[in-house]
Amino acid sequence: MDTKILLTEKEMPTSWYNIVPDLPVPLPPLLHPATKEPTILPPPLFPMALVKQEDTKDPYVEIPDEVRDIYKLWRPTPMYRAFRLEKALGTPAKIFYKYEGVSPAGSHKPNTAVAQAYYNKKEGVKRLATETGAGQWGSALALACNLMGLECKVYMVRASYNQKPYRRIMMETWGAKVVPSPSPDTEFGRSLLAKDPNHPGSLGIAISEAVEDAFPREDTRYSLGSVLNHVLMHQTIIGQEAKKQMDKAGLYPDIVIGCVGGGSNFAGLAFPYIQDKLKKGKKIKIIACEPDACPTLTKGPYAYDFGDTAKMAPIVKMYTLGHTFVPPAIHAGGLRYHGMSPIVSLLQKEGIIEARAYPQKAVFQAALIFARSEGIIPAPEPSHAIKAVIDEAEECKHTGESKTILLALSGHGHFDLGAYDSFLSGKLEDYAYPKEKVEEALKLLPII
Ligand SMILES: *Cc1c(COP(=O)(O)O)cnc(C)c1O
Repeated sequence: MDTKILLTEKEMPTSWYNIVPDLPVPLPPLLHPATKEPTILPPPLFPMALVKQEDTKDPYVEIPDEVRDIYKLWRPTPMYRAFRLEKALGTPAKIFYKYEGVSPAGSHKPNTAVAQAYYNKKEGVKRLATETGAGQWGSALALACNLMGLECKVYMVRASYNQKPYRRIMMETWGAKVVPSPSPDTEFGRSLLAKDPNHPGSLGIAISEAVEDAFPREDTRYSLGSVLNHVLMHQTIIGQEAKKQMDKAGLYPDIVIGCVGGGSNFAGLAFPYIQDKLKKGKKIKIIACEPDACPTLTKGPYAYDFGDTAKMAPIVKMYTLGHTFVPPAIHAGGLRYHGMSPIVSLLQKEGIIEARAYPQKAVFQAALIFARSEGIIPAPEPSHAIKAVIDEAEECKHTGESKTILLALSGHGHFDLGAYDSFLSGKLEDYAYPKEKVEEALKLLPII
């Protein structure tokens, strides 16, 4: 069997898969942050095409030709059989990974960034505003805006802006304007800076600033890189490609594993398989992995909560640690969101997927095993999923089963080498579950 399983550009899927009509129970509606009445995505913030996609009951949505043309810069992405990792572990398991690190931004995020930039452009929008934590989403949107001819303004969490300049430089290389958040460019930012000029910022605050930027401006819309239904749908090209590639390998996964921040790369790979589970009765174990410093699915309640700190974005029914929760500064910046996709949350609630939480030292240990066997240095986020893959492969060793395991390798870790440096020199700290901070934040729930 080949190490790489590749598809031609002609074999690239032509539609995104929408899991919503296949869900066993209806998805609770979004609520308006002020009236708390059921609402749609607010059109002043999003283009109508995406407002509609957020609510669509169509099982498939065609990928526009212009989006497909740009996808061809890096798609179809490769699937690998992890022969060397299997050997290093001495496991009878067959391990595969779908690698999204081949995109220009180095992660899965351009799959939705390009689609979002396209629909905005089509409706005459000139400029997109967004937030970014460590810079992965910001760089994906900067790339997409550049390719579509839109301006891009990124509010970057100040702690990352100061500590990790390379993602900012990448965004600026693609022509985006990047400011540290909280910033003097919004009222909310100014109010926080007045209290603390060195405020380190958070994802929730940066979201609030980007929303405030876009809301009053006719030429500007807001763009979100995860959590929302349309974002997860755009990522399903990953899983549809993966299915074709697994078919070529003549195998079907017993276990599908991904990491979850807001849930988009996990959804991208897993939803087309969950479709088989729900509609064809396929027996697959589907595992979502998160940091134990931000254990949304494993420790949070399933409740309506605000998506952002300033309470401007719609209220969402989801697993949440509370909208004021700021997790410890773990290196997996993309997994530090207090909430979770409403669809992924519902799947967890219904027992269709399972969740696991890991401390970061164990995660980096797993990343090292992967880098030293497969060569690719994984980002800290998917390294949480690698930890689960290794655990499952070890389990196969004990039971003697030769299970097929499929991993979502959402991105490379070339901008995270500082974190690897800390780990290799023994300085990396474990942050345990921040029980008191979570309890504090959960006091504000339920909000309705
Ligand atoms: C942003 C990011 C994540 C987390 O976001 P999801 O929406 O949960 O996928 C995971 N991996 C990488 C490489 C990322 O950039």
